Parts: sequence; C-alpha cells; structure tokens
Amino acid sequence: MSPRPVRKATNIYKGLARAAKATWGLSPEVVRTIYITVIEPTVLYASCAWAPATGKLGVRKMLDAVQRSVALKACRAHRTVSLHSALILSRLLPLDIRVREAAWLYEVKRGKDLGDTFVDRELERPVYFGDLLHPARVPEIGYESVENLDSQTVDRLAVVGPQIYTDGSRIEGKVGAALTEWRDGEETWCSTLRLDPFCTVFQAEMVALQRAIRRVKNGREGLVNIFSDSKSSLEVLTGLKTYHPLAQEARRDISEIVAEGRAVRLFWVRAHAGIAGNERADELARRAALTKKTAADYDRFPLSYAKKVIRAASLEEWQQRYAEGSTGDITKCFFPRVEKAYRVLGDTEMTSHMAQTFTGHGGFAQYLFRFKLRDSPHCACDPVKIQDVLHVLEDCDMFFRERAALEAEIGVAVSRRHFPEILDDARKKKKFFKYCTVVTERCNKINKAT
Ligand SMILES: [Zn+2]
Repeated sequence: MSPRPVRKATNIYKGLARAAKATWGLSPEVVRTIYITVIEPTVLYASCAWAPATGKLGVRKMLDAVQRSVALKACRAHRTVSLHSALILSRLLPLDIRVREAAWLYEVKRGKDLGDTFVDRELERPVYFGDLLHPARVPEIGYESVENLDSQTVDRLAVVGPQIYTDGSRIEGKVGAALTEWRDGEETWCSTLRLDPFCTVFQAEMVALQRAIRRVKNGREGLVNIFSDSKSSLEVLTGLKTYHPLAQEARRDISEIVAEGRAVRLFWVRAHAGIAGNERADELARRAALTKKTAADYDRFPLSYAKKVIRAASLEEWQQRYAEGSTGDITKCFFPRVEKAYRVLGDTEMTSHMAQTFTGHGGFAQYLFRFKLRDSPHCACDPVKIQDVLHVLEDCDMFFRERAALEAEIGVAVSRRHFPEILDDARKKKKFFKYCTVVTERCNKINKAT
C-alpha cells in the first residue's frame, strides 16, 4: 500500500470522525444531508488517485468505520447494529463503492472506460472552452415564441420563406427525431433520424435543430424559419454561453449563413396546439423512434446515462456484498434487495422504533438478554418461545388482536415470507409500519418494566 493514499485517507478519517461526533443531537435527515453534501464530497475529492486503495483492507476498515458512525445516527439505530443494516436503513451506498464510482465516472468523462461498459460509444462531451466560437464571431441569435400559427400571427411576425419544423421523440425506450419543410401550407420535404436508445429526448430535439440549421447552410434560401417545441433546446442553442457540442456546431453554421448575407429565424411553438407542421414533425419523430431500423444517426451517450449505468453496477456490487454478508439477517427479511430498500424507505422518515424493527436490535427480550440487560430471552406469552422481533411480529399472542386486524386490512399473512411483498405496496406498507411501531413500542415498555 503506497503511503500517500493511506495518509490522505487517515486525515480524512480524522476529520470525518470529528464531524460525525459533532452531529449528535441533529435529526437523522439532517445527519444524512450533512453526510451527502459535506462528508462524502470530502472523501470523493481526488478519489481517482486513491480509488485503487479502497481494495486494501486497512483503508476499507477506515471508510467502514466512518460511514458506520454516520449511518447509525442517520437511521436512529442502536450502536450494536451492523454496517450492512445501517447502510440499508439510511440509504447510503458503501463508501468504498462510492469512491470507485466517482473514479469511474471521472475516467468516462476523460474518454476512458474502466469497465468495458461504454466500449464503441462516445460520451457527449461539452466543448472545450478553447474550441468555442470566438465571442466576436458568435452570431446574435434569439428565438421568438409563438402560441399559435394562424394567418394573423404569420402576418404579424412577418414569417416569409420556407418553414422547417423539428421534433424529437422518446417512446417505448426508443428515440427518434424528424424535420419537415413547408412552403405555402404544404409539406415539400421531410427527413427522419434514429438515435440510440440511451439518448434523451433533449438530445433528439437538439439533433433535429442542428440538422435543420445544417440544411439551411447547405441550401441557398435567403431566409428560412425553423420551429421547435422544445424551449430547453432553443435556450441552449441561443444562450450566451453554451458548451453543448450540437449547439456549438449549429452556431458555427448560423454564423456562416449570416456571413453570406442570409438569415435563419428560430421560433418556439407550443406542442399539440394544432399547428400542422409541428403535428407532422411530432408524428414523424414518433414513427422514426418506433420503426426506423437503420444505424443510429446519433449515438453520443449523455452523462446522465453513464451515471445510471455506473450506479446500477454499484448497486449490484452492494447487493452481492449485502447478500453474502454474515450480518443483517433481520434486515434481509424485510429488504432482500438493496435497490428495493432505497425505494421503499425513500419516502419514510426513519424512527427509532422502525430501526429496531428492521434490525432486531432494540427492546426485545432476546436482544436485551444477549447484551446482558435481561435475565432471560423468553417471551411472556410462552416460556419456551424466544422473544425476538420476528416472534413478536409474526407469532406472539400478546399482539394477536393487532395482527389479525392488520391481516384483515391488507389481505396478507404477517409472516417474514410476505414482508417484501407487503412493503412493495404503498398502502399495505403504511399499515404494516404502523403495526410494527405499535408492537416494538409495546415491547420496549414491557421489557423496561420487568
Ligand atoms: Zn410472545
């Protein structure tokens, strides 16, 4: 292990431990926010330099220790809870995986691909500022907004010359774009494009706009009007500073058109407002997305796609570690899949009682006995039954009435086999959480009294 990353990690660790201690008394959501906005970026800083070190046991231990202390507070869990459970309940990606994720994304941005995932594909990279059009050569461009295109509006805006309508479409996971040219109320030309499925609808709109402007540049018309229903693309295209590669290409073309004494006018039109050219472009773009089988006309993937792919790989790695880990058995009964836990717990405020339920670490006789806080692990309902969280939720006679009422309401037996299924349904989940809270709260009271 080279000394530098270790020293760096140690220093970060010390800083984090201090930060983690300072979070006492803050609400779990605040702790989580501090972690994500302050602590994590500190660790991720220069992550590519020391990402390889996360494979070393010593570094892993440090990262785990830091994250565990924060995660426990972020989910109000007992100090005895395992890292696995604490991370699931606080919805935090293991820090070492997060470090490698950041390093991977950094490499993808630089055009390298560590995982062979993006092979043969290129990232849609922002234009390097040195390659931007010189400010003096940037044409003064803007766009006009048109709510509807009746003859009155056409007269008012003095729209003369051919009109090109552009549109992009993403449908059933496929992406297409289209251009259609109109003269005197009739379509005179059209073209469709296919984009790779990981492209966004924004990219489709940008490609369509860029191709329309390219067509104007290559033609001889003195003035062409281009219509798009995508405000965001027009904003990027005409904005003061734009680093978007397609916008940059289009702006170069516009400056050439202007240099030749010709002009192009840009318009925003409201989608689905009955404007014939826009409706036609919309229909063509959809059809291109659904049926076009040619090679993609555009296949640069957006950064958002790279992030999604990398996150999916991270979740897979986490899942494997979690499933194979020797700890967190109770948590696994509720959340066998980490990705699901992310979703199920996303809209739930974690309480101490819920954390006790999901970890089994809390006011249950078995847990208290294990930590020598009680003489016996057995339940008051039956002297041979161990009182752990699964017993009280599934089986204990003390909660027979509450359990029967819940089962009648949700139509599912309250047993560990069905926990994931119950949590998958928002309505059932809410009622189940309420039941868990009542049961755990009561156990805490009973076991404190004895
Ligand atoms: Zn019992």
